[in-house]
Amino acid sequence: MIDVDVLASGSRGNATLVRLHRDNMLVLIDAGLSPRRTKLALESRGLAYSALQHVILTHDDGDHLHTGWIRAMRSWSFVLHVHANHVNALQRRGVDTGRMVIMSHRHELSEHTHIEPHLVPHDDTGTAAFVLTHDGVRLGWATDLGHVEDTLISHFSDVDALAIESNYDRDMQLGSDRPAFLIDRIMGGRGHLSNRQAIDAIERIAAVASLQHIVLLHLSEQCNCPDVVAAKWKAIGTDWSRRMRIATQHQALERFTVTERAAAMSSG
Ligand SMILES: [Zn+2]
Repeated sequence: MIDVDVLASGSRGNATLVRLHRDNMLVLIDAGLSPRRTKLALESRGLAYSALQHVILTHDDGDHLHTGWIRAMRSWSFVLHVHANHVNALQRRGVDTGRMVIMSHRHELSEHTHIEPHLVPHDDTGTAAFVLTHDGVRLGWATDLGHVEDTLISHFSDVDALAIESNYDRDMQLGSDRPAFLIDRIMGGRGHLSNRQAIDAIERIAAVASLQHIVLLHLSEQCNCPDVVAAKWKAIGTDWSRRMRIATQHQALERFTVTERAAAMSSG
């Protein structure tokens, strides 16, 4: 079983706590909240900060690795798992090379847990999407990507839960007062996914996987909102509401549990 606890998601900081039951292991996906806020989040859940064993970094942007970590990391004992593409930028930001472990194609965290990273298009060096497999349960994660390639859909086949960004509403983006270069960067294929692109991706992944849970990540505060996203999904006709959650910047999502397929099927 995997417990997923999205602490925050959006351009001001992304962080999700994942508890791996069989290993009794605590993993953080992205460290975009300050060390202080992260510590408070752990403590409010009855967890010691020393219990955090692994951090998986999707990429090196500040909303995924808060600046405060550059200094604070010394007093934490976690292993920082990074994609090879991000090592140089992380070094430039001041992260100690000795602290980073580069993820391999099948990157083992323990006997029961491994990560399979998959680089997706985002700015110059891309983002590491990945599948985290623990004791037969598979969690797919994809944030900060400009478009969805066929290879990502096949990478995510048979995931039991999926977290993917639904960053902006196209009309809100085009109607915003943002400068043209920024709109181009976001919509140009190496920026972020629109609500429409996220819907298409989820429908394609749902055709090759049995999704117990879907989380929409990284909603733009300026060019998106949960009501707009919900309306888009409602228009499709299929009722996804029982399985779907929309992560927000300022409030953690209610924690949910991903179970093995057989257990999920017998509980209906
Ligand atoms: Zn981001």
